[in-house]
Amino acid sequence: MALVVQKYGGTSVGSPDRISRVADRIVATRAAGNDVVVVVSAMGSTTDELVALAEAVNSRPPAREMDMLLSAGERISMALTAMAIAARGVEAVSFTGSQAGIITDAAHGQAKIQEIRGTRVREALAEGKVAIVAGFQGVNPDSRDVTTLGRGGSDATAVALAAALDADVCEIYTDVEGVFTADPRIVPDARKLDELSFDEMLELSAGGAGVLMTRSVEFGRRYGIPIHVRSSFDDSEGTWVKEHTMEQAIISGIAHDVSEAKVTVWAVPDRPGVAARLFEPMAEAGINVDMIVQNVSRQGTTDISFTVPKAAVETARQIAERVAGELGAAGVQVDADVAKVSLVGAGMKSHPGVAAGVFRALAEAGINIEMISTSTIRISCVVSGDQVEDAVRALHAAFEPPMVEAEVGA
Ligand code: ADP
Ligand code: ASP
Ligand code: MG
Repeated sequence: MALVVQKYGGTSVGSPDRISRVADRIVATRAAGNDVVVVVSAMGSTTDELVALAEAVNSRPPAREMDMLLSAGERISMALTAMAIAARGVEAVSFTGSQAGIITDAAHGQAKIQEIRGTRVREALAEGKVAIVAGFQGVNPDSRDVTTLGRGGSDATAVALAAALDADVCEIYTDVEGVFTADPRIVPDARKLDELSFDEMLELSAGGAGVLMTRSVEFGRRYGIPIHVRSSFDDSEGTWVKEHTMEQAIISGIAHDVSEAKVTVWAVPDRPGVAARLFEPMAEAGINVDMIVQNVSRQGTTDISFTVPKAAVETARQIAERVAGELGAAGVQVDADVAKVSLVGAGMKSHPGVAAGVFRALAEAGINIEMISTSTIRISCVVSGDQVEDAVRALHAAFEPPMVEAEVGA
């Protein structure tokens, strides 16, 4: 008997009819002799609608109340899913994140899971019931307030729960057949990948491939939980994200991200400690700085550019303007119309020519590169926001992932 954690995303539970189909699948998994724990997202675009409601009454809603509001979305879907399962004669019981013992830090809107107690989930399983857990939420033990984990956070709930319960597999049911070589909404001929390493998936997710939240992949890697990303609409085999893959691709895929903005501080005095002065207060404000580029120094000053989530850009601007004033820098500029495109592949570290191929493909598509950053298995470029979809398509056409043969640099 296996323990299976299944997570159903917003589209998959988007209507009563779809919830019924999800219930059929859960009941079938149970009937096959498995223990089943289910994590659900809010129905359809509920979370977006709740965000819009909040903004309609307060342009800067208090973070605690925002989490009270947003966590309601998953409460609706968890109860409906439990009801649909009960209608099929199988006992099911739903739990909020707090009831399931999902303990987080206090960072409202981007809380991190610190511990999963899971007592009531285990009790439900021991009683032969299906346990349904609301995704995307937890509770902070100090404030006793409900927290949410950040957009896409139900993936993190599912994989963390799978780790805590020592599940055999974590299945992520979504509206695509698996992880593709690029977002299929942008590249219609993107290909489904059969398998992918945690490291590659981490780079794709961090690069903006929203099919799996980055933190869920981190949990999978840390606790060795294989993740099966698959369609909730059919039984086809999806994509396995796991530690070791049979074949190592040179290029696995392309991700893009439109959620960040670029901040530039002009003519900062070039002396030790300046970068720390700028980035320490960003860290203290809880801002996740992504790419950082510092120019070569000219006449004792240098320009520093970095990207931050668009949601944090006003705070980042205020901090940068204050620090620029203290340091005697020339000024601060914010550009929200930027996007990041990333090429990912575990084999690129041993294949020269990949970076050159990226720059060539973007140049031929008439796309200017504003910033570049790399890891051993990723090359990312910041480009103008209105060109990012062209950039994804240009790179997909140039590299045709998954590229397994040594074709680059030839
Ligand atoms: P869910 O509500 O099931 O969590 P999401 O919208 O969060 O679904 O994630 C699925 C979506 O991710 C797909 O519809 C697709 O547009 C997008 N996506 C982006 N990059 C990729 C990729 N590389 N492979 C598959 N889907 C991707
Ligand atoms: N409902 C949340 C969101 O839309 C969490 C999730 O779907 O994973 O971001
Ligand atoms: Mg999602």
